[in-house]
Amino acid sequence: MNIILLGAPGSGKGTQAENIRERLNIPVISTGAILREAAAERTESGLKAKEYMDRGELVPDEIVIGVIKERIAKPDCEAGFILDGFPRTMAQAEYIDEAGVRIDLVIDIYVSDGKITERMGGRRMCPSCGATYHLRHRPSHRGDICGRCESRLIIRNDDKPEVVLDRLKIYHSQTMPVKDFYSKKGVLKTVEGQDELSETTRLTMETLEEFIASAKK
Ligand code: ADP
Ligand code: ZN
Repeated sequence: MNIILLGAPGSGKGTQAENIRERLNIPVISTGAILREAAAERTESGLKAKEYMDRGELVPDEIVIGVIKERIAKPDCEAGFILDGFPRTMAQAEYIDEAGVRIDLVIDIYVSDGKITERMGGRRMCPSCGATYHLRHRPSHRGDICGRCESRLIIRNDDKPEVVLDRLKIYHSQTMPVKDFYSKKGVLKTVEGQDELSETTRLTMETLEEFIASAKK
């Protein structure tokens, strides 16, 4: 089963992608995480990507499509995969289509812009292992220290308030058309993001179970 998670930055789609992974036992492919890893390893495309990411802009399609192409060709993707953060532009959605990759389900986590800005202020990340936290929704049990590897947590450059507004603008102009594209294909389900993470999880899993039941028929 091939699934796409859509949603504005900070909508919590990454967390829901992990929940779906646990249920279906297929890998989560997060383009953001892969790009940050490439940047940390200082590969050529990683360093190029970092310039855009730090400014809160989208990384050029050629780079991101290259990353996805390589990743979905790996054997662990044979039984399916969950795309978190891809596609974000029409060119990327068209690539998936033209490559003949079947998309079974697209879950859009909807959260208003006001709530997004409020939430992004609480995001923290571990610079060493990449673990993500939120002061309120997913705190580290060690405070500002990573619970996995003991590094001090940081705020991602692109989570700074002035950058967040730009990212939202880009989301509306570039990614909303992708939502319409899948809606027209009849594979889009919208989940309203809730203040309580556990509620969003419940609604997301409900949507997934409904889909699985209907696919079996
Ligand atoms: P968020 O969900 O908070 O936006 P991500 O980790 O998904 O965070 O993405 C971080 C950054 O990585 C984006 O702001 C963008 O610069 C880059 N990026 C990730 N996925 C894509 C994509 N599909 N197309 C272009 N840029 C991307
Ligand atoms: Zn860590």
